Amino acid sequence: MLKDILHIENQTIPLQLFSNSNCSLVIKREDTLHPDISGNKYRKLKYNLIEAKLLNKNTLLTFGGAFSNHIAAVAAAGKEFGFKTIGVIRGEELIDKIDGNPTLSFAKSCGMQFHFISREAYRNKTNKIFIETLKNTFGDFHLVPEGGTNSLAVKGCEEILTDKDVAFDYICSAVGTGGTLAGLVTSSKLHQTVLGFSALKGTFQSSEVDKYTTKTNYKIIDDYCFGGYAKIDAQLVRFINDFKEKTGIPLDPVYTGKMLFGIFDLINKGVLKDNSRILAIHTGGLQGITGMNQLLKKKNLPQIIY
Ligand SMILES: *Cc1c(COP(=O)(O)O)cnc(C)c1O
Repeated sequence: MLKDILHIENQTIPLQLFSNSNCSLVIKREDTLHPDISGNKYRKLKYNLIEAKLLNKNTLLTFGGAFSNHIAAVAAAGKEFGFKTIGVIRGEELIDKIDGNPTLSFAKSCGMQFHFISREAYRNKTNKIFIETLKNTFGDFHLVPEGGTNSLAVKGCEEILTDKDVAFDYICSAVGTGGTLAGLVTSSKLHQTVLGFSALKGTFQSSEVDKYTTKTNYKIIDDYCFGGYAKIDAQLVRFINDFKEKTGIPLDPVYTGKMLFGIFDLINKGVLKDNSRILAIHTGGLQGITGMNQLLKKKNLPQIIY
């Protein structure tokens, strides 16, 4: 059912358009992997869907917020690979706002059924008793955790790097839960440094990475999270738009935009040494831009072009 991914393009960025460093920068276009199951979310779901089929489960249940790339990806994967999908969504107030929310209305169009719960109840998302009550309500399902991270997800993310990528000194990725980074670290070579750019305050995801690998050739930084998860300002929007104009590559504001902003800053400060060969993973997430542009409009900030 899930086809093996044959070829993901590595695209070279003409770095002289942005900096006078002589590093080289290449973007792995995981965002082009599937039109609706974005980048790393496809990697993370692959072995989970194979497992669900093996266990004869016909329903997937997962958790997420109103703009979640993971919710959109699970809904699209369910439609494509023949699963019913249930999204447990943080925020009861969203129940009558589905049509105005691009992520939720997309998920709905894929057939996802929603269960809206309060922020307080949402904190129980890993609690066994809470999961049992969900089973009583919805029947049996295959549970995919929030953000999709588990050992099968990490196994899928190990397939992002290929043999050709051994030539790079740095491998960069945005970090949410840390599952994608764990896969990259696992399949990296010890002469490579894997740099994780946290999309939220803190670098606590290293404890998640360490659950899946004993390798330590990685570092997580939160210097480029712009104040926190999904926080964004005019400087970041301008950066994303400038990058799109010069390279043709669209970036999302929650993950990949912040990562690339950080990579350029580290290059310009000389933290990434001269002649470094840098590979940045474009993990996708572009579905979130429409929702973010609605928020930017309300705040009178510039729109993201994509
Ligand atoms: C979910 C997501 C991430 C974070 O992945 P984790 O495995 O949770 O760290 C990074 N980039 C994009 C575009 C995402 O949607």
